[in-house]
Amino acid sequence: MSGTACEPERFVDTIEMGEVTITRVVEWQGAIAPAEEVFLGTTAQTWQRNRNWLEPHFWDARSTSFKAYMQTWVLRSEGRTILVDTGVGNGKERPSMPPWSHLETDFLDRLAAAGVAPEEVDVVVNTHVHADHVGWNTQLVDGRWVPTFPNARYLIPRADFEYWNPLNGHAKHGSLGGINAAVGNQYMFEDSLLPVHEHGRAVLWEDSHPIDRNLVLESAPGHTPGSAVLALDSGGERALFVGDLLHTPVQLLEPDAEACLSEDVPAAIRQRRRMLERAADTSALVLPAHLPGPGAAEVRRNGGAFAIQRWAPFSPVG
Ligand SMILES: [Zn+2]
Repeated sequence: MSGTACEPERFVDTIEMGEVTITRVVEWQGAIAPAEEVFLGTTAQTWQRNRNWLEPHFWDARSTSFKAYMQTWVLRSEGRTILVDTGVGNGKERPSMPPWSHLETDFLDRLAAAGVAPEEVDVVVNTHVHADHVGWNTQLVDGRWVPTFPNARYLIPRADFEYWNPLNGHAKHGSLGGINAAVGNQYMFEDSLLPVHEHGRAVLWEDSHPIDRNLVLESAPGHTPGSAVLALDSGGERALFVGDLLHTPVQLLEPDAEACLSEDVPAAIRQRRRMLERAADTSALVLPAHLPGPGAAEVRRNGGAFAIQRWAPFSPVG
């Protein structure tokens, strides 16, 4: 492991890959819940065994909690500005998720620190539809939810858009502390998806969707029916924005450990293995949605599992 994991935490980091600049803008950071409850197939011992490198970024020994960032990846590619995932958002009513209800963060100031004004954003990617990935799709203006990025096309997986549409009902699968995914995402469709659709900004895609010569969205259903991976291939360099296919580096050691709120657990596990094998075999940088600290890593195969090859060498912005 390189030294990145030991440096102070930052909110805006950047790295170049081929012709694409990647900048990380953190919205929120914190402990979510006891890790062995969040990740099916792990025990308290799984986390204890690895505490020497899971602390301080990925796990809190005192509370045994899994730690996560909410964040947006800002890509500059072929002259356009592309946001990957939009965090929790401000002012959202999430009755069953108190830590994310009525947030008031300075996320838009952090975006500005990364050189991004909302009207300059060309494309917004939601890797999947969960309340912590679509929040800044919209903001409250004069009592109405409107697109935060008024000139952007929002690329939303059709399968997720339809799955979460209350008119279609919703199958309730995983749960955490008695909260299932449908309850945890209450009001999300109405406040973060529908306004984008009604303003004519939503592009509902399926199977795969090229963004430009460097970037393509690929379907990877499991965590949600529309979960996607954004693949970057530019100047011989590769990266995979994997959304919630990987939440914690413990899933490298234990690829079958799945987040409890995944809609189709066996499919989510298959997609993670497939993605990690591809990343290892093609030296692609893996950029999960929520990884704190170093934020991204190259991985290698290790028997039937995986290991960190090296953390991403991000540089601070400004
Ligand atoms: Zn998430």
